[in-house]
Amino acid sequence: MATRQELTAKQRQRLADFIAPFLVRPGSKVSLAKDFDPGFKAGLKNKKAGAALLEEGVRLLSEYQARLAAQDTWGVLVVLQALDAAGKDGTVRHVMSGVNPQGVQVHSFKVPSAEELDHDFLWRYASRLPARGDIGIFNRSHYEEVLVVRVHPENLDRQKLPKASTKGDIWKRRYREINDWERYLSDNGFRIVKLFLNLSREEQRVRFLRRLDLPDHNWKFSAADVRERERWDDYHRAFSEMLSHTSTEWAPWHVIPADRKWFARIAVGAVLVTTLMELDPRFPTVTKQQRQALSEVKRALEAQAPEGAARDPFERARRDAKTAAKSARGDDKPQRPATGGANASELGVERSE
Ligand code: AMP
Ligand code: MG
Repeated sequence: MATRQELTAKQRQRLADFIAPFLVRPGSKVSLAKDFDPGFKAGLKNKKAGAALLEEGVRLLSEYQARLAAQDTWGVLVVLQALDAAGKDGTVRHVMSGVNPQGVQVHSFKVPSAEELDHDFLWRYASRLPARGDIGIFNRSHYEEVLVVRVHPENLDRQKLPKASTKGDIWKRRYREINDWERYLSDNGFRIVKLFLNLSREEQRVRFLRRLDLPDHNWKFSAADVRERERWDDYHRAFSEMLSHTSTEWAPWHVIPADRKWFARIAVGAVLVTTLMELDPRFPTVTKQQRQALSEVKRALEAQAPEGAARDPFERARRDAKTAAKSARGDDKPQRPATGGANASELGVERSE
C-alpha cells in the first residue's frame, strides 16, 4: 500500500548518497582515526540548515514504525556504541521522539550482574532482543564484550570461563561468534543496525568540561569516564578491530560523525529510515473474502438494534466527516433549499423500522 509518506526515487537516491560515507564496507580494514572524520557534516552549514532533515527523518520513522508493528513480521535491533559523552542518550531521545513508545524498547547495558556473569557472554543480550514488529535499541551492547572487556581484561577474569575457552585469540573468536549470532538473527527476520558514534578526543574534553561547569550537567559527570579517557588509544584500537571484523553483509556497521550532536541525530535518523525502507513493511490488507465476512457480521449487528436506536451510529459520523471535508475543500454542491425534498439518510436521520 502506497502512503502519503512514501519517498520518490530521487529522494531515496539522495538518502542513499547521504548515508554512504558512514558505511563500513564488509571486509575492509578500518583505522578509525584515519578513515572517519568525527567532524564531517556532509556540506550542511549548521544545526538550522539540518533542522528540516531531522524533522523529516522523525516523521518517516514514525510512519515506518507503525507499519513495522502492524505487519508484525520483522524486528529491528539498533546497536549503539560510543565512547563516553558521544551523545548516545540524546540521540535515542531525539531520533525516536516521534515513534509510538509501545513499539520501541531501549536497553542500557551496564557492568554485568553476578547472574549475568554466570551465563555465556551473549546471554544477557539475547534475553533482551526485540520481538517481531518492534524496534529494540541497545544502548551499549554485546560489543562491550570485545571493547571494555578487552581494554580491561579483569572483566574477562570475572566471566569465569573454563581455561580451554580462553586459549588462542579469544577476540577473533568472539568476533566470529557475534557475526554468527547476528547472521542467525537476520536469517530469522531481525534486522540489525549497528551505529558507532564517532567522537573526537578534543570534543570529548569539551563535553566533559561542560559537565563540570554547568550545574545541571554535573550529574552526568563521572570520574570513571575521565579514567577511561586515558585509555583513548587502547579503545580506538579495539574499536578499529571490532569494525574491521564485525561489519558484515547481514549486519554492517555505520560510523556516525558525532562531534556535532545535531548532525549525528540526522545521520542516525537517515540510517534507520533507510533500513526500514528496505524492509518496506506494509499494513496488512483485508482480502475480498475477509471483507465479505465483515459485511455479514455488520448486517447481523445492525439487525440487533433496539427500537429507536441507530442501526449503525458510526455511519452518521462518517457521513458528517465526509461532508465537513468536502465543504473544507470548498467543493460541496450548491445548497438545495431545505425543503422536505432531501433524502433522510443524507441528512443523517436514523432510520427506524
Ligand atoms: P553508562 O553507560 O555510562 O551508564 O556506564 C555503563 C558502564 O558499564 C560503562 O562503564 C561500561 O564500560 C560498563 N559495561 C557495559 N557493559 C559491560 C561489560 N560487558 N563488561 C564490563 N563492563 C561493562
Ligand atoms: Mg557513562
